[in-house]
Formats: sequence, C-alpha cells, structure tokens
Amino acid sequence: MSHVQRITVLGATGSIGLSTLDVVARHPDRYQVFALSGFSRLSELLALCIKHVPVFAVVPDEAAAGNLREGLRTAGLATEVLVGEAGLCQVAADPQVDAVMAAIVGAAGLKPTLAAVEAGKKVLLANKEALVMSGHLFMQAVRQSGAVLLPIDSEHNAIFQCLPGDFTRGLGQVGVRRILLTASGGPFRETPLGDLQNVTPEQACAHPNWSMGRKISVDSASMMNKGLELIEACWLFDAQPSQVEVVVHPQSVIHSLVDYIDGSVLAQLGNPDMRTPIAHALAWPERLASGVAPLDLFAVARLDFQAPDEQRFPCLRLARQAAQAGGSAPAVLNAANEIAVAAFLERRIRYPEIASMIEEVLNQEAVVALDGLEAVFAADGRARLLAEQWLSRQGR
Ligand code: NAD
Ligand code: MG
Repeated sequence: MSHVQRITVLGATGSIGLSTLDVVARHPDRYQVFALSGFSRLSELLALCIKHVPVFAVVPDEAAAGNLREGLRTAGLATEVLVGEAGLCQVAADPQVDAVMAAIVGAAGLKPTLAAVEAGKKVLLANKEALVMSGHLFMQAVRQSGAVLLPIDSEHNAIFQCLPGDFTRGLGQVGVRRILLTASGGPFRETPLGDLQNVTPEQACAHPNWSMGRKISVDSASMMNKGLELIEACWLFDAQPSQVEVVVHPQSVIHSLVDYIDGSVLAQLGNPDMRTPIAHALAWPERLASGVAPLDLFAVARLDFQAPDEQRFPCLRLARQAAQAGGSAPAVLNAANEIAVAAFLERRIRYPEIASMIEEVLNQEAVVALDGLEAVFAADGRARLLAEQWLSRQGR
C-alpha cells in the first residue's frame, strides 16, 4: 500500500461507525482517521475524537459545535468542528480523504454519501437507504466519477466476494443465474401471528444474531431490511428483482450466495460480526485482520433454510413490488418506512401498522421517474407527508 489511508467515518457514533473504528485502530500503520461525524450522543463523539485525533469532527448544529469545541480545547486537541450537512459533504469530498465509511442511518446519509461518490472516493456503503432512494442516479455518479463502491451490508459484501472481479460486465455475461440473499428472520420469525399486535420496540430491537442500531433492528424484525437489501442488490449488481431470491437462514452464518448456470453455488460464511465486511472493504483487494473470531463450524453444527412467509412479513412483499415498479417507488417505500419505524419506536403505532402505513402511502403516491436529486427528495417529502397524514387520521 502506497501511503497511510485517510478515512472519514460518517455516523462514527453508531454501531457500524464504532465497528469501523475498532478495525481501523488495529492497524495504525495503514489507516488514519481524517474525520468523524455524530448526530446525538455527542459526549461519545468527543471520546472518539480524543482516541482517534481526527482533523475534523462534524455535528448537527452550532450549539453542539460549541460544546464539542469546548471539550476538544480542554483535551488539548486541534480538531476543527464543522456543522450540518455542508460539513458532512465537505469531509466526505475533501481531497485529502482516501476512503469514506457511509454509516449514517436513513435518508440523511444520501447527500454526504453522494458527495463522496462524486469526489471519486473509495466509498464503503453501509447506508443502504441512500442507494434505495436514488439507485439510478447514485450508480450513474459512481460510473462517472470512477468511485470505488464497496458494500458493507454483510449480504452484499458476501455477494461481492462470491462474484468474479469483472461482474460489472453483467451477471449474465459472467454466468450468474441467481443471487440468494439470506435473512435471519429476526426476532419474530416464530412468534404466533396473533401476538405480533402486542410486540414492543424492545422485543423488536433484540435481534437474535446481530447487534445493530434501532432503526435497522426494527427493519430486520419486519424484514423491510431484506426488502431494502433486495433493492440494494439490484443496483449494486445490476440484477433484476426476479434474479434475487430471499432465503431465511436463522443461524446468520452464510451471509449470502451466488448461483451460477453450471450449478455451482458460492457462499461466504463467517461469524455474524460486521467487522468482517468492514475489514474486507477497507483492505480490498487485500485482506486484513478484523478481530473477528474464527468460525467454529462444529459449534454451529447445522445450517437451516426456509422460504420467507409473506403473510408474516408483508414488508418484504411491499419492497419487492416497489423494486418492480421502479422510479420513485423505492424512495417512497423508504420514506414511509422511516416514519413508520420512528412512530413504532415512539410507541405511537403498533408493529403490524408499520406495513399497513407503508402500503397505504405506496397506494396513494403515483410512481414517477426520478431525473435528479430534487425529484428524489420531492418523492421522499411527499411520502413523509402522506405517512404523517396517516398517523393523524389514526389519531396518533
Ligand atoms: P446507528 O443508529 O447505530 O448509527 C447511526 C449513525 O448515524 C450515528 O452515528 C448517528 O449519530 C448518525 N445519524 C443519525 N441520524 C442522523 C442525521 N439525521 N444526520 C446525520 N447523522 C445522523 O445505525 P447503524 O446500525 O450503525 O446503521 C447505520 C447504517 O448502516 C444504516 O443505514 C444501516 O441500514 C446500515 N447497516 C447497519 C448494519 C449493522 O450491523 N448495524 C448492517 C448493515 C447495514
Ligand atoms: Mg444486511
């Protein structure tokens, strides 16, 4: 490697951000932290600055910036504090940056992630919502800038590892028949359907295999996460929705598979720990120790597979419909889901209402073509408004 890689971590205080910094700190000879961002839990951001000594830190507003500057001064650090989306875009695109970890959750990550793409960075993509919202524009920007896009989502990272290096020629050209996207089934895989009405945010966030942020944990419980990942896979690998099959695999040991026309099926396995895909993407095409324990197949003992139950997981059906509809439909799906999940976490709606709300918003909103970022945010805004109207109609 020619020089120490300078890394910006967008969403440093989150689950993926912290796992990234864990891997980076294991290899100070290879990586330096250039910038960190946080939105809440800003005392944790200060602690991360003290540990990693970034050139920049980014916070949401001036009040938070004042507090952080004070803390940095006390600690004797020269880290410069930037504010808001402009600050995020600046540290994503700075000429000194080699790689950007895009680990902000939700639509808020789109502009900074796109700024990194447009600046031609190595972009480590955890923020799947950005790609779901703007897939066509996003992939066009990747091609135009020459950015290197590496998937962090464990399934997509697994698929990337199972595909040949020249897969961008087209899946058909490289002999791929299907992508098999694995899903754990989440905490409610076997909950009696009648009990779903009463499940709590705490139960939804208690994922059996993965420790993650609250929004993606609820998405995993509803399997909207797998729906978003289906759309993500279509963009990353230029696949049709019909080429991506979801396979419920409760052990989360196989992270996904690729089925070739000769009958070969390649899979990537490992312990469910995000430091593996993070280390893979950071070092690609080399390999890097991540701190993840070796997989003990004897302890795993068995691997199970099931077809997904769309009655139990209506969000998966809605996402597949949005993928097939194309245009603005995935952005509308994503925005309605963000409002629904936030309302569920605030105990304003019950768990089954997440899917009801999204379905109604999708039915109310006509599918339009997205010819630019303004159109993406307009569709996102309309969907959020419809979702809020749904909430007030229900008196929530
Ligand atoms: P998290 O909630 O733990 O962290 C989110 C980060 O984004 C935090 O640093 C938070 O401060 C920041 N943030 C939140 N709202 C923001 C806003 N409006 N503006 C700027 N920053 C904001 O989430 P996570 O689990 O780390 O997930 C991050 C992303 O990675 C999500 O898109 C998720 O789907 C994806 N992902 C996560 C995992 C996982 O294992 N956690 C796996 C695959 C993909
Ligand atoms: Mg995933």
